[in-house]
Parts: sequence; structure tokens; C-alpha cells
Amino acid sequence: MSAGLKRDVLELVRPDLRGFGGYKSARTEDISGDVWLNANESAWANPADASASVRRYPDPQPAALRTALAGLYGCAESELLIGRGSDEAIDLLVRALCVAGQDAIVATPPVFGMYAVSARLQDARLISVPLIDGDAGFAPDIDGIAAAVLEQRAKLVFLCSPANPTGRAIPLEQIEALLTRLEGRALVVVDEAYGEFSAVDSALTLRSRFPELAVLRTLSKAHALAAARIGVVIAEPRLVAVLRACQAPYPIPTPCAELAVAGLSTAALATTQQRVATVLSERARLQAALSVLPGVRRVYASDANFLLVRFVDAERAFRALLAAGVVVRDQRAAPQLDDALRITIGTPEQNARVLAALNAQAVAA
Ligand code: PMP
Repeated sequence: MSAGLKRDVLELVRPDLRGFGGYKSARTEDISGDVWLNANESAWANPADASASVRRYPDPQPAALRTALAGLYGCAESELLIGRGSDEAIDLLVRALCVAGQDAIVATPPVFGMYAVSARLQDARLISVPLIDGDAGFAPDIDGIAAAVLEQRAKLVFLCSPANPTGRAIPLEQIEALLTRLEGRALVVVDEAYGEFSAVDSALTLRSRFPELAVLRTLSKAHALAAARIGVVIAEPRLVAVLRACQAPYPIPTPCAELAVAGLSTAALATTQQRVATVLSERARLQAALSVLPGVRRVYASDANFLLVRFVDAERAFRALLAAGVVVRDQRAAPQLDDALRITIGTPEQNARVLAALNAQAVAA
């Protein structure tokens, strides 16, 4: 494939799924009436359903939520698929692109575990191209990723930016360079679950130029709606249509969609923005305070709502935090992180408790 040629992203989809229409539900048919007796729903609302909004099956892609999310991320509605968290989007991408027992994905450990889990479930090979631990923090090995895709014919590359658990965002030039080098041979998925906490622009700014770029966003982190399970994949509309055909018939429960629409109102967004600002200032404060604590080896710079911290004795730090009632994420089983904990930024009071507990154990040591 030569650069400049219009590429068809459907060539990356499993051949057996290219013409697949998926399940045709009662809600997919374009018909109208005022007495709906076509889906075997109850004629009466459940007594607990005060708004009577749950009696009927939901719109598979609720219209008001689609509009709100397209507005939030600045994309066309046709580029957007809403799923049960970005976890579902990851799973759909792997299932739709990888032929079981044949195709591969690239992930960059230490990284969010769902890329590997979805690959395993689909019997897709996992090619690991480890992050490189440098002065500025962990960064992807772009040359290594490109080589792995070209030599081992991977279908999907998962980049996490800002990365979980290592914290750094990937500069857009690097993502662009990778997309340019791959020339459409693989779909590059940029998981921006923590994008709201980063000063680096979203990879969505590259979308119009690269049909083989997909971006994941979620309402689970900055928008504080983790239990509503609303995440999106933003990609080429024809790819979105394939993913939708692979998805469950009614993936988005009405109460979740309604809460999410309310959670994206102008007033709610203003509050979210203030909280993001608080996270950023608390992140800087916690990073500075942890860096000078005895027993702390390294605090990584972060573009997300957590800090990755290396300890002289991570077990001791983990136990001290637990004894103070503070639960953090033990990263010691992850490659390159055998002395590290990941600490989510909490409220100022919660962060003070983290520091007090770690201070106390440092003094006692
Ligand atoms: N991507 C990353 C990098 C994450 O850390 C998480 C959650 N921990 C997710 C995706 C999944 O988020 P959700 O399914 O809640 O949208």
C-alpha cells in the first residue's frame, strides 16, 4: 500500500465479519405507531420504576447520549460507538479484527491489563513491546512497535495515553509517526481513559487524516460515572458499524444513559472541570511531598489522576497505608515495577492521610 492512496479500514476487519449485520432487534426496525406490541415487553411499568422509563428495551445507541458525547469529544455521531465502558470497546475491537488462532495484537507492558485479557479471550496472539523507563518516565518504543507490526503482521496496536499505570501521555508526533509508518497495516487504538488530566492534545486531532486510528474515551474517570459503564470508541464510521454489529443488542441501560446525559450538562461539566483542576493541583502537591519522603525511590511524573511510586520497601509502604485504612494498587507483579505502588489522587484530606501514613512508617524505620 503506498502512502497517499485512499485506504479502506474494512480491510483490517475479519473477512468473515465484513458483511455481518448482527442481530436485528425490535428497536432496529424503522417503523412507527402508538401501540407497541412488537417486543414482548410488559404493558405496565414495574412499581419501582417511577419514571416508567425502564419498561421498554432501550435505544441501542441512545440518541440524546450520542449527541452529548459527540459534542463532548468533537466528533461526528457516525464516528462514535457507545459501549459498556471502554472495556467493551477494547473487546469489540479485538473480536472484530483478529481471526482467532491467527492474528495478533501489540501491547506495551507494563500497561492496563484488558488488552491482553481480550486478546486471550479471542485467541489472538499478544506481542509485548515493553515500555522504556527513561528520565521523563515510561515511554513507548515506537520503533519496536512498528517493527513488530510489520514483521509479525499484528492487526491492532494498543497505546495507552496517558498510560495506566505508568502515567505519561504520548506526544502526538509519536502517534502520528507510528500511523505514518504503519501505512494502514494495523489499527492503532489510543486509549485516552485519563485524557482529561493531561495537557497533551487528544489523538482525535489526527482522526481525519488517519482512517486506521481509533480513540477510546470514558465517563468512568474524570466524569465520575464509573458504575454507569459508559465508554466510547471513536473511529471510521464503517468500522463503527462493524463493531456495532458485534455488540449485544441493547448494551446501554436507560438509567445509565439518562444519568450520563445529565452528567454532561453544562453545569455538571463545570463541576467536573473544577474537580479536574483540583486533581492536577493535588497531583503536583503529592508528587512533591512524596519525592522527599525517606523510603521513596522515585515518583514518576504523571499526566493522569494517579502517581506511580517506587519504594525501597514497597511491601512495608503498602502495609502502612492499609493499616491507616488507605488502599492503593500494588503493582509489584507487573513487569519492571517490582517495587512500585500506584496511588490514585483523592480529595485533599485523603491525600493528607496517604502522606501521614507514609511519613509515620518512614520515621519508624
Ligand atoms: N483504559 C484504561 C487505561 C483504564 O485504566 C481503564 C479502567 N481502569 C479502562 C480503559 C476501562 O475503563 P471503563 O471500562 O470504565 O471505561
